Amino acid sequence: MSVVMRKPTDLQSVDPEVAELIARDRDRHSRTLNFIASENYASQAVLDCLASHLNVKYAEGYPRARYYQGVGLVDDIEQLAIDRAKQLFGAEHANVQAYSGSPANMAVYFALLKPGDTVLGMDLSQGGHLTHGSPVSFSGQFYNFVHYGVDPHSEWLDYDALADLAQQHRPRLIVAGASAYSRIIDWRRVREIADSVDARFMADIAHIAGLIAAGVHPSPVPFADVVTTTTHKSLRGPRGAMILCKQALARDIDRTVFPGIQGGPHLASVAAKAVCFHEAMQPEFRTYQQQVVDNASALAEGLMRGGLQIVSGGTDNHLLVVKLLDRGYSGRTLARALESAGIITSMSTVPGETRKPAVTSGVRFGTPAITTRGANTSHMQRVAQIVSTVAEDPADELAVSRLRAEVEAIAGELSAV
Ligand SMILES: *Cc1c(COP(=O)(O)O)cnc(C)c1O
Repeated sequence: MSVVMRKPTDLQSVDPEVAELIARDRDRHSRTLNFIASENYASQAVLDCLASHLNVKYAEGYPRARYYQGVGLVDDIEQLAIDRAKQLFGAEHANVQAYSGSPANMAVYFALLKPGDTVLGMDLSQGGHLTHGSPVSFSGQFYNFVHYGVDPHSEWLDYDALADLAQQHRPRLIVAGASAYSRIIDWRRVREIADSVDARFMADIAHIAGLIAAGVHPSPVPFADVVTTTTHKSLRGPRGAMILCKQALARDIDRTVFPGIQGGPHLASVAAKAVCFHEAMQPEFRTYQQQVVDNASALAEGLMRGGLQIVSGGTDNHLLVVKLLDRGYSGRTLARALESAGIITSMSTVPGETRKPAVTSGVRFGTPAITTRGANTSHMQRVAQIVSTVAEDPADELAVSRLRAEVEAIAGELSAV
């Protein structure tokens, strides 16, 4: 009888190089403060699903209608994810197979539109997303997107202008939702505007899905024909996405996701989505999301006290955009200086933008990730002071490096990543 010696298969033994890079990056997270509005730290339960044997499985199709054998149990997993998604958001139908937010939006456009159709979407430079008709995205290349935006003075969404644009262009679809808009979106109003021109309405809640699940932002589900969302942002699940829709559109949406644009579902992710929806139904999740919003408000107030301008004058949700049009430096400059101090953000365009997208005149801050680590409003006040000091002179490297110690002290008070 031959004995085969099993070699160690753990990451550290197989590939110490990648293992070390991952460990160092994890340490970086723990020692810094992550204010990237689209990022969040998923639970170990979610990560366990992602690292499970489910990674192996092919199951093209949908539960009880697959093109492969051996799917009985993954059918149960996907069905659980679907049922929980519907329950969590009060939706008639859920597709949990979308690989990420961009392909989810693509699936909806492919299902509802013909190439060349007119669509209204929010302007990218005022907070919209690439997939809402940017010329560098498939969305702007396949469809005739017309962009609406915010009132130049209040910097709040201008629904009257949106209604006028709808009358003028008679779109087939209105897309509402944003990546960098800090105010509540009035879904009912968007529905009325869509109805006034016989357009369909898609809500893209990629950023605010967690807030909506917890009831701290109104839900578009009663009003929109289709709702798309990522699962990895405020919802705190695995990287991936989901499409919710009315029953009448269920068949078209499902067929467009598979076989229309995707192959086999990523079942490890689907299992992780099921866990994420379960977590989002717990009372602690509501407490968490309320803290996310409270932290964003506290940060906005602190930054304004420190002399910084915030787009729209503040925030009602999990993010805010600092506007630097009154300063002699760019969003990129400030974001880089903040990184040197250990505060991780992303640059952002602002209404009335004068700089290129790779430079910008804004910096976006979001509180989901830092709140998952246990940050509260008094941490936010300290962060606001640090940011305000850096913003006085981002080129002052000595001051920035001194602030780094203060940031590490705050990071040390929070749970490790
Ligand atoms: C993040 C985001 C997406 C895209 O998600 P990816 O998973 O990065 O493809 C789509 N729409 C909005 C509004 C987003 O913020």
